[in-house]
Amino acid sequence: MDFELDDIQKMVRDTARKFAKEEVAPLAAEMDKTAKFRMELVNKMAELGFLGVAFPEEYGGGGMDYRCYAIIIEELSAVCASTGVVVSAHSSLCCDPIFKSGTEEQKKKFLVPLASGKMLGCLGLTETQAGTDAGNQKTTAVLDGNEWVLNGSKIFITNGGPAGVAVVIAATDKSAAHKGLSAFIVPADTKGYKVAKEEHKLGIRASSTAELVFDECRIPKENLLGKPGDGFKIALQTLDGGRIGIAAQALGIARGAMDHAVAYAKERVQFGQAISNFQAIQWKLADMATEIDAARLLVWRAAWMKDMGFKNYGKESAMAKLFASDVAMKATREAIQVFGGYGYIDEYPVERFYRDAKITEIYEGTSEVQKIVISRAVLQD
Ligand SMILES: Cc1cc2nc3c(=O)[nH]c(=O)nc-3n(C[C@H](O)[C@H](O)[C@H](O)COP(=O)(O)OP(=O)(O)OC[C@H]3O[C@@H](n4cnc5c(N)ncnc54)[C@H](O)[C@@H]3O)c2cc1C
Repeated sequence: MDFELDDIQKMVRDTARKFAKEEVAPLAAEMDKTAKFRMELVNKMAELGFLGVAFPEEYGGGGMDYRCYAIIIEELSAVCASTGVVVSAHSSLCCDPIFKSGTEEQKKKFLVPLASGKMLGCLGLTETQAGTDAGNQKTTAVLDGNEWVLNGSKIFITNGGPAGVAVVIAATDKSAAHKGLSAFIVPADTKGYKVAKEEHKLGIRASSTAELVFDECRIPKENLLGKPGDGFKIALQTLDGGRIGIAAQALGIARGAMDHAVAYAKERVQFGQAISNFQAIQWKLADMATEIDAARLLVWRAAWMKDMGFKNYGKESAMAKLFASDVAMKATREAIQVFGGYGYIDEYPVERFYRDAKITEIYEGTSEVQKIVISRAVLQD
């Protein structure tokens, strides 16, 4: 793996950084307060190719690598973690399983509009009783002639509100437990598909987190993704890749918090001098900088493994997410400390970063789950 970015990766970083600074940052506080995502940002990101950067051009993507994808998520999340997860959930959780497991026809019909950013996508895996225990699905899909009929509901679905397409996991054979799960591509305008509820959250408040209900929701037979029974495997593979996106989001949150802490430490005067002169503050910044670099190396390694076509990179993507989310929690906590009382009020953005960081320890597998994945791999080696 090359530590230096190549010319394309540098161009992607500079474009994403400029866009984040000029277009996203001015809206971030307002989107957080109103808990509403500004959809014009999706259109602008689509124009820049951010919504399908790592997918082949023939499927509406940018034909770039996964490191470019991680860089975009880092840059967006360094100013607004909600914007970061809109892109990450769309790309990793919806486009990726269609790219990996879809037929040519499914890719043309669904991946092209998704990857080119004409519509957003989401993944419906979680149910009230099926969180960490994702195999315990109650949503069912029954074949009736040429149609699958879906019944059930999904909770906490990122992009659930605005998504035009959902990849949905449902039980097709209850007797076979997780081996009886299948994956489906479900257009949001299908009769019986309903966005039932939007959640109010601690952080990433601008990102839609919705309950989806399927009530006699009929989709064509050919919307099955992979084979019947492939659903759990597709979900786990999807999460292996998705965790790189969430690790990149955590990395961006940590870096954004550090950037603000550095700037403030140089400005804030106490005892007649900038607080950056105090060793207590310098050490906080040193720890942040070191841990953020280490997190980035883990993120880039996992992205590189995905790019190189490693069959198994689940341990490495779990390590990246586990470590980067911990770094995000520490860096945002310490950034508030650098700001003192001002860090606690919403005049400055570090309190938002602190609230946003927490979710990275929870979704796409909690930190406890990442440790299960990592320790299983370690014990198998
Ligand atoms: C904002 C947000 C966005 C989300 N986006 C999506 C999405 O787009 N699509 C989707 O399908 N889901 C999504 N989720 C769901 C998310 O992935 C789950 O919340 C998460 O996997 C944890 O499941 P749970 O909430 O049911 O917690 P639980 O599984 O009930 O876990 C509760 C606690 O028990 C621990 N625990 C559980 N089992 C074990 C075990 N075997 N060993 C050790 N500890 C264990 C957990 O680590 C946790 O600390 C989202 C959630 C949120 C909050």
